[in-house]
Amino acid sequence: MIAKALTIAGSDSGGGAGIQADLKTFQERHVFGMSAITAVTAQNTLGVQGVYPLSIEGIQQQIDSIATDLYPDAVKTGMLFSSEITKAVADKMKHYGFKNIVVDPVMIAKGGSPLLQEEAVEQVKASLLPIASVITPNLPEAEVLTGMKINDLNDRKEAAKVLHSLGVASVVIKGGHGEEQYKIVDLLFNGRDFIEIDHQRLETKHTHGTGCTFAACVTAELAKGRSIEKAVETASEFVHYAIKHTLEIGGGHGPTNHWA
Ligand code: PLP
Repeated sequence: MIAKALTIAGSDSGGGAGIQADLKTFQERHVFGMSAITAVTAQNTLGVQGVYPLSIEGIQQQIDSIATDLYPDAVKTGMLFSSEITKAVADKMKHYGFKNIVVDPVMIAKGGSPLLQEEAVEQVKASLLPIASVITPNLPEAEVLTGMKINDLNDRKEAAKVLHSLGVASVVIKGGHGEEQYKIVDLLFNGRDFIEIDHQRLETKHTHGTGCTFAACVTAELAKGRSIEKAVETASEFVHYAIKHTLEIGGGHGPTNHWA
């Protein structure tokens, strides 16, 4: 039986991030991909030109359709945009008893467009984190969620502990925005141990959609029954390779290359 993964996220018309990145990643990892779209963005490599959230009912119904027939082995949440959408998605996931929930706390696009309203951050903490298996913030997102200023690896470890205390089983703080000049350290905390996954830093502006791709890869691996440690190692490797072979298309930040 093929493993099945669901992404509950926003659509990126430019094809580099969001639902499109998730489904391409699921396909590459040999997992059957399904989607519930929360918002449609008009977007390209230059930025986000428009955001159109779907109705709560429309989002709930997509999740109902999937849960009552196909049922996912793992689920990823991406752009949730508002407090209402966040709550509706969390309630549905609870209702259907979804397992292997990967929360990518998407907040702001690289160009600065808000993909999560500020007042929704508390809702993410209150309703999503307690049911999540993994949360995958980058450093700025980890700072917003914890209210901490994160300067070094020790701060990252403290932030991971704080996020873990909010109820999420494992925390991955991605290192792409970190201070290390030559390497990137993705830090995994599983409630007991800290695991550091290092990669050489690659200099490029073409990293659009890497966060979505990372979380989607973790989701695909969890859907296949891999351990959280293995899933995160695979995702770090997958994203490193995707950036190394980045696609320089469009006039701005080129999209992640999913042909790993
Ligand atoms: N657009 C959507 C719909 C997304 O879900 C995301 C994910 O983070 C982004 C844009 C962000 O893309 P970028 O990697 O350019 O920050």
